[in-house]
This record gives sequence, C-alpha cells and structure tokens, in this order.
Amino acid sequence: MQHCEYTQILSEVQTSQFIIIDKRVSELYEDLNHFLEDKSVYFVSNPEESKNIDEYGKVLNYFIEEGISRNDYILVIGGGATSDLGGFVAATVLRGVSWKVIPTTLLGMIDAAIGGKVGINSPLGKNLIGQFHHPEDIFICSDFLKSLPKVEISSGQGELLKYIFLDKDIELKYSEYGLTNQVILACGKYKENIVNQDFKESGLRKLLNLGHTFGHAIEKTAGLPHGVAVFFGLRMLVDIFHPDFKKNFDQYAKFIQIEDSDYTTIEFNKFWSYLEKDKKKKNNKQMDFILIRKIGECYIETLDLDDVKKRILNNENYKHYFI
Ligand code: NAD
Repeated sequence: MQHCEYTQILSEVQTSQFIIIDKRVSELYEDLNHFLEDKSVYFVSNPEESKNIDEYGKVLNYFIEEGISRNDYILVIGGGATSDLGGFVAATVLRGVSWKVIPTTLLGMIDAAIGGKVGINSPLGKNLIGQFHHPEDIFICSDFLKSLPKVEISSGQGELLKYIFLDKDIELKYSEYGLTNQVILACGKYKENIVNQDFKESGLRKLLNLGHTFGHAIEKTAGLPHGVAVFFGLRMLVDIFHPDFKKNFDQYAKFIQIEDSDYTTIEFNKFWSYLEKDKKKKNNKQMDFILIRKIGECYIETLDLDDVKKRILNNENYKHYFI
C-alpha cells in the first residue's frame, strides 16, 4: 500500500491495458478518462447494484473477449463496490490474474481495497459469494476525496469508527487531528497488519467486522450506504452489549455527519432474517460477535442467537431501531 500523488495515478492508468472503472469517476476525472482510450475498459455504473452475479458474468466475458491472458493484470479504479467486483473478476478469470487497485472513496482507502477480500452480493445477503485475492498494489490518493459526495465521506467515517475502538493509536490521532491523510493511512496500515497475520480470516481478522453483523443486516434492510449502516450497526452493538462505551461512541459520532434521521426505522423480522444469513454464523444457534473490552482491545465471542434476539427485543433502545 502506498500513498501517492495524482500524477502517479495517471501514469498507472497510462501503463495498464485491462481496466475496470467506476463510470462516475471516469466522468469526473477527464484527464484520467483521456488515458482510457484504446484500452480494454469496463465501466461500472451504479457500483453497489452491479455487485451481482449477472454483472460479474458480463465483466468476465468482456475481458475474455478482449483477449486477457494469465500474464496480464487488471487495474481497478473506484470505491469499495467496484473493487469488490473487480477483484473478484481478477480472482476468477482464467483461474486468476493479478490486480492493482486505486480506491476513490474514503471507505475504499481505509478498508475495502485493502486485504484481498473480493466478491459480490447474493439476493440472500451481502458478500456471500467471493474469494481471497490480494491486490499486487494499492495506490492511495486522497485527491479523489475532493469530488466525493458528503454522504460518502460520512459513510467512510462510519466505517472508520471501528478502527477507533480497535486501535488506541488511531483513536488518539483522530481525536487530535480529525480526518487527515495520516489517519487514512494509519487505518489502512492497521488493516494490512492484521491481514498479514490472518489472511483467510480464521481468527484475528474477524475483529475488523466490529459492528458489521448488525451493520450488514441494517444495510440490506434499510438500503443505507455501507459505512452509514456500519455506523448504526456499531451504535446498536454499543447500546445492546456495551452501554459503558456509549459516551466514547457519542464523542466520535459527533465528528461524523450522520443524523438519526438518516436511519429509517426497520422491521425487526426482516433485519433478523438477514442477520441469520451472515457468514459468521456457526450453526443454527450460534454466531461469532466482535465485542469491546476497552478502547484498543476487542475480542471475538460466540453467542447464542436466541440470547442475542432476547437482548435486542428487551433493550430500552429497541424503538429507536425497529418497528
Ligand atoms: P461505492 O463503491 O458504491 O461508491 C459509493 C459512491 O461513490 C458510488 O456512487 C460511486 O459511483 C461514487 N464514487 C466513487 N468514487 C468517487 C469519487 N472519487 N468522486 C465522486 N463519486 C465517487 O461504495 P463504497 O462506500 O466505496 O464501498 C462500499 C462497498 O465496499 C460495499 O459493497 C461493501 O460491502 C464493500 N466493502 C468491502 C470490504 C472488503 O474488505 N472487501 C470492506 C468494507 C466494505
């Protein structure tokens, strides 16, 4: 992972032949668009909706038709949905080719583009189809954030909140400086370090899912941007399991422009049916949850799903989240 200037981004684009790019980014960055001529480029419109089996098939066939070979690599440019889809195509076309990634959203820079988890959604749940396939290079260029809509900045910051509970150093940097290049890189490095120790998520890496079990179910039920849903998922986790950390959550939440009105109250039964399909489910009765011991120390605990359900239903904040 490297931090780089926009000029280096242009030269990466110039020297790549097979490219997957978020259509919106190609429209916003004309100079970059200029270098796409005469290349094999797949444009992804509506990235999150494109993270599905049909679109995945189309991208695969496009690159096969364009004559991609095992020695080629794919350059993926876009937010987390585009890098998930593009990385999965790279992982599987011709049984796998290399890939490089230029994340263009905050969420991509601090999380999605790092760590080699790639994949698509199933109608039954988020990210249920996928692979582990490390990108060869990750180019972080914060210039892309200048064009990012406010809601996407908030979404990235919603995801960033998990690092504050996971790592004391990030918490200190964020409380002192807010969202800076230094904080963005620190989050990426933190993730990279965890992933190097546990690539296939057999233990340690699960910690990065803090707030995500509830978050993914909220995302699917309420249709919120990923990081906004993670924000509410983390808040729900704190409300239900860690009221002692509520003031820490609120302290950092006020830096983030996510309002209560961004949350549409959702039907509990729908939420629960998505939650039960989460990949972290162990059997019909139990699921791994990431819990907080203190700032900078989280842990994995296998919980009985009936107990979790009871805790939610009996929580005084239930009405805040569900109808
Ligand atoms: P996204 O990729 O859908 O992008 C959000 C929006 O921003 C889109 O409309 C996109 O067109 C637009 N956009 C992208 N770059 C832009 C720019 N520079 N300027 C203006 N607009 C721009 O969403 P995201 O939040 O980046 O990623 C969310 C996805 O990431 C989810 O699908 C989630 O599951 C996935 N994710 C994956 C991992 C992982 O480890 N693989 C981790 C976290 C999240």
